[in-house]
Amino acid sequence: MYIKKQRLLTPGPTPLYPPALHAMMASDIHHRTEDFRKAYRSCLADLKEVMGTANDLLMFASSGTGAMDAAVSNLFSKGDKVIVCVAGKFGERWAEIAKAYGLDAHVLTVPYGQVVTPGQVEAALAQEPATKGVFVQASETSTGAAHDVRAMAAAVSRTGAIFVVDAITGLGTMPLDIDGWGLDVVIGGSQKAFMIPPGLAFLSIGTKAWKFAETATLPHFYFNLKKEKKSGEAGESSWTPSTALILALAEALRYVKQIGMDKLIENARLLATATRAAVQKLGLELFSPGSPGSSVTAVRAPAGMDSGVIVKEFKSRFGAIIANGQGSMKGQIFRIAHLGYFDFADLFAMVAGLEIILNANGFPVKYGTGVAAVEEIYERAAVAPQTVSA
Ligand SMILES: *Cc1c(COP(=O)(O)O)cnc(C)c1O
Repeated sequence: MYIKKQRLLTPGPTPLYPPALHAMMASDIHHRTEDFRKAYRSCLADLKEVMGTANDLLMFASSGTGAMDAAVSNLFSKGDKVIVCVAGKFGERWAEIAKAYGLDAHVLTVPYGQVVTPGQVEAALAQEPATKGVFVQASETSTGAAHDVRAMAAAVSRTGAIFVVDAITGLGTMPLDIDGWGLDVVIGGSQKAFMIPPGLAFLSIGTKAWKFAETATLPHFYFNLKKEKKSGEAGESSWTPSTALILALAEALRYVKQIGMDKLIENARLLATATRAAVQKLGLELFSPGSPGSSVTAVRAPAGMDSGVIVKEFKSRFGAIIANGQGSMKGQIFRIAHLGYFDFADLFAMVAGLEIILNANGFPVKYGTGVAAVEEIYERAAVAPQTVSA
């Protein structure tokens, strides 16, 4: 075919909300002005609103990992005992950060595709009562699995430890009652369900975690939670902010509020449900069948087929970027995202494309089998035709 529109079907960056993209063009604005303070304040307030928390909300000019780094360097001291849940590449990142800062980490590792259970966390806490922190991914983007952060939080909140949740792909794809469940630190990033480009990280932080900031002694400079809180209260960021991204975020958050965070989550959940139904109908296997999340679906390539072939053909045939597996999962799986600005029309096209690619590569499927599964989920969901559109 001669025209191929570029399509991002990856779990970060995700497709951009067009009005947010347009808002970025007004970024010839100075950050120490009332106009900018207004936009910055509205972002902080709207983020708190869509995240549903009364905790403080701080924002950084960095990718999501910056906020992960900030949580460790601002709230802990060298040698602190912590528990790190590792169910994939992003869990491994927590372990690497903890190691880099000299924390004494008890790493709970499970095979890729599985999840760390609340029982494991509870047992590890009982074994080491001096534990100061527990780190987890709400959604482990590398495998598509989702953790039961609610039950984990119940276990952590009974102890003196704080619960630090990387919700970078959890926000907007699963319910997270930050205040009700006691999620002490919750981390998000701009390029996931928030529908704007990479470059902003944010975190919510509650009173239990703020107390840790009083005694923590790890060195930090750029990422300074206390300083950032003070700046935020004045409608500013400590350092030069990413003005373009903040204007974009203000616009995207307007849209998220208009739809409703619960509907954004339901949107991802429906697309994930339909994707799982489609790939299974096509005879493919899920990589995380036990606790699949709604941010991304990881699918095993057919036996004897490298998943890189599927990834490459999506690009060459349809201009579409889908994610390969990371690390040792590369070549084994491919991942289809649902978080943020995705709709059923995207999924119909994606699944039809997948059918064509499978057929062309020695894995015969009957055309329409997967698409029909998506159509059935769409029909059953009875999504009202007047639902808000861009
Ligand atoms: C995308 C992502 C991150 C952040 O990665 P950055 O490249 O620093 O933005 C962290 N954790 C999870 C679970 C993610 O999906």
